[in-house]
Amino acid sequence: MTTCPKCNSQDAVQKVTSIVSGGTFQTTHNVPVKSQWGGHTFYGTVSETVTEKTELARKLSKPTEKDWKKVKTGEKSLIMQNYLKLHPEPGPEKNYTLRVFTSLIGIVSLPVSGLLLAGNNQLGLYVLLLFPISLFIRKLIFEISNSQEYKQWYKETQQLVTDLRRESETKYNMLYYCHRDDTVFLLGTDYCMSASDMGNMGAWIKLGRTNS
Ligand SMILES: [Zn+2]
Repeated sequence: MTTCPKCNSQDAVQKVTSIVSGGTFQTTHNVPVKSQWGGHTFYGTVSETVTEKTELARKLSKPTEKDWKKVKTGEKSLIMQNYLKLHPEPGPEKNYTLRVFTSLIGIVSLPVSGLLLAGNNQLGLYVLLLFPISLFIRKLIFEISNSQEYKQWYKETQQLVTDLRRESETKYNMLYYCHRDDTVFLLGTDYCMSASDMGNMGAWIKLGRTNS
């Protein structure tokens, strides 16, 4: 049995992963559909599966890929600020504007080629090629322009959030929740959060950094 660090009891403690799996339901509804074909109207049903979660299961669910991406790209996010204080960028990235410009061409090429092809214009196929080409050139600009030191720094900075996420997901499987105090805790550490705090990425970053 596991003891809650707040109330020192065991009776209201449950593993977080089992709360989430026990509080997630898949329900299948039959939705009526109507279709018309050849002057006749047909009635039928299609089944639709919906995933529903209890309020608590939702709060205690792991962050998604998208949530982690925000931590990574949010330049002003605390984690990046703290990291950059310890590992300052070795001078600005060379030819950064050129690299961004190349990315933009790639991004714009997709809808433009779609429009051309929709209008039966074969030029759309060539425009579509700009996308993979821009990805390649973008990488080339970065590799050629920057020093080994810069590239190493860049790689490590990119790796930071990936590592934190992996750490946090490993520890997630060892989290417990006390229903009495609404507290999430990691045994043997000082990690202690309320369930509503788990909606904040800061709680997950802290989990990744907690030593256990
Ligand atoms: Zn408790």
